[in-house]
Amino acid sequence: MSENVKSSVDKVCQETDCSEKMTDLTADQRELFKSFTYCPYCAEEMTLICNSCHEQLNSSDYKFCPWCGAEFTS
Ligand SMILES: [Zn+2]
Ligand SMILES: [Zn+2]
Repeated sequence: MSENVKSSVDKVCQETDCSEKMTDLTADQRELFKSFTYCPYCAEEMTLICNSCHEQLNSSDYKFCPWCGAEFTS
């Protein structure tokens, strides 16, 4: 078992400019971004990441991060 770290799945654009814009978003806006397929700033495809280790995930259905073992709570 993991050391019980809590994390969440985040959906981000990997462009540095866009990820900087996204850090300024409110929690509500970040929730909305999770439903997007493409970045509203640059039209790149959005990427799911672990909020704890920032590694890329290929499913939003995971209960635990396969990279750092954090538990996803939503
Ligand atoms: Zn972008
Ligand atoms: Zn992780």
